[in-house]
Amino acid sequence: MGNKVVDIQGVTRQFGDLKALDDISFAVERGCVHGLVGANGAGKTTLIKHILGLLKAKSGTVRVFDQDPVRKPVEVLGRIGYLSEERDLPEWMRIHELMRYTQAYHPKWDMNYADSLIKTFELDPRQKIKDLSRGQRALTGLIAAVAHRPDLLLLDEPSSGLDAVVRQDILKEVVRAVADEGRTALFSSHLLDEVERMSDVVTMIHKGKVVLHGTLDDIKAAHQCLTIQFSEEQTSRPEIAGVLSLEGYGNQWQAVCNGEFEVAKAAIQSLGAKITEARGASLQEIFVARVGRGAM
Ligand code: ATP
Repeated sequence: MGNKVVDIQGVTRQFGDLKALDDISFAVERGCVHGLVGANGAGKTTLIKHILGLLKAKSGTVRVFDQDPVRKPVEVLGRIGYLSEERDLPEWMRIHELMRYTQAYHPKWDMNYADSLIKTFELDPRQKIKDLSRGQRALTGLIAAVAHRPDLLLLDEPSSGLDAVVRQDILKEVVRAVADEGRTALFSSHLLDEVERMSDVVTMIHKGKVVLHGTLDDIKAAHQCLTIQFSEEQTSRPEIAGVLSLEGYGNQWQAVCNGEFEVAKAAIQSLGAKITEARGASLQEIFVARVGRGAM
């Protein structure tokens, strides 16, 4: 298996006329936090369903722990902790009952860890799931997914419904712990600042295609954000070689470059303009530069 926990090769998925996944290929490496980022409808959940074996790849291959998740569901699913976007938990159970119920399916269940997370998240174990808030429901689902210490923690939009403090601190801590123990976390999100804070590796998908994949460090090192000052007002968008995107009006414009910094600098100089600021681009800026502002 090497270091590939998930290996997706050439997966295409069509729903009627819509290509939800269009020749997707990438791998998830062991021991890292992998962020799957894309706007609503990009194809994240469809991809996750292929990893879980809930959808069978019509073309291409999906391997999880070197196995086909459709043909070997017991072997694959037993090693995955999954939190769905819908948080579909049994409404009638109390939190402590859900923990006991989930434990029955997982020999490696760690009740002390589950109890400590219930305390950290300030949940009442006697509360019924139907009475939980959206955020409490997400946290309960997260505990059920993580407390059997799965080899792969798979979270679909884990922060949806969580407030900013929980998102930033607790979620990061739980997901980070998985990777620090040599296990793997794959989570989908459309919140780019969150993906930037939590991930070692990022795969960006847009309209079913991978538009960018790599370690967060490499992606950040390859992109720069330049503020450009023109001596005269520009009435239309200037053409500048080497830039991925250019936005602004009048004298001041902002460009995102991908690698070709020297080409861009020379082009800016030749237009008689100056770079007044050069800084690393955020993941949000990189995403918008690649797929357009309307996408997020
Ligand atoms: P979100 O962030 O909104 O959950 P997503 O990135 O998870 O979006 P998917 O749920 O994978 O996106 O959907 C990708 C596309 O496929 C969407 O256009 C969606 O409407 C479509 N789609 C998903 N499942 C089906 C289905 N069973 N039948 C028809 N279309 C589907």
